[in-house]
Amino acid sequence: MAEIKEILQKNNFRFNKALGQNFITDSNLLRAIVKDSGVTKDDTVVEIGAGAGTLTAALCENAKKVFAFEVDGNLKPILNETLAGVENCEVVFKDVLRMKDEELAAKVGENFKVVANLPYYITTPLMMRFIESDLNVSTLTLMMQKEVAERLVAKENTPEYGAVTVAVQAVADVSVTRIIDRRLFYPVPNVDSALVHIVSNPNKYNFANFETFKKVAKSVFLMRRKTLANNLISAFSLPRETCEKILKNMNLSPLVRGEALSVEQLVELSGEINEILG
Ligand code: SAM
Repeated sequence: MAEIKEILQKNNFRFNKALGQNFITDSNLLRAIVKDSGVTKDDTVVEIGAGAGTLTAALCENAKKVFAFEVDGNLKPILNETLAGVENCEVVFKDVLRMKDEELAAKVGENFKVVANLPYYITTPLMMRFIESDLNVSTLTLMMQKEVAERLVAKENTPEYGAVTVAVQAVADVSVTRIIDRRLFYPVPNVDSALVHIVSNPNKYNFANFETFKKVAKSVFLMRRKTLANNLISAFSLPRETCEKILKNMNLSPLVRGEALSVEQLVELSGEINEILG
């Protein structure tokens, strides 16, 4: 896509590193992202960070409608050119992270898929913003730093397994669909990327109380070097004997660390704690 580079140069566009501007110009990669996203002509897509509009245009070919959000106004003339004649696209110069659910739903509707080649610094807040919202986001297909992707699909008892892993895997099915060489971005970033596909699955587990589960999941990883019992004692102000009894009922050692528990076990643990808390 030499053409995109020419359009950027012609408009004297200066890449803003602080906004994570590393654009995709490789048409095979663009096709692959659209394929992995599973977007069809029935879907409304919210794209975060339109950039020069390469992914936006590829999505428009397959989606019913694409709302592409972008914060950098300097990209306006470029997007006008690259998306000229694309009728099922609306570019919105707003920061999605600052929009309330109602404001976003009023703009794009309640049901949509999210696709984004994200600036790395907003990966986690943006992903959690959609995973935890009441909006009906059926899938998220996100390009992110490879190391962050590894955390999302991590298994218990690994250094990558942590609070974000559990928060996402508790309510969604997550897979890494491909690893992407940094040389496929322009300009070339300092890290490799991975494409992650997240399918919302809110009924995957039977939570006694989702708020208690969230508190358990958070407290377990707060002090990774402490035992699970010690973390629970501080988080819930429970007597040691009560915590150890719960662990015993779950066939766990009193010295077990939180990171050894699978998501399923953490759900079970939160159910036990919820019962005690009444
Ligand atoms: N989608 C394009 C592509 O794949 O080539 C651009 C991807 S680039 C990694 C990320 C884009 O997100 C940049 O254009 C940046 O200006 C924009 N951006 C950064 N923070 C944003 C935010 N909070 N909301 C919307 N867009 C944002």
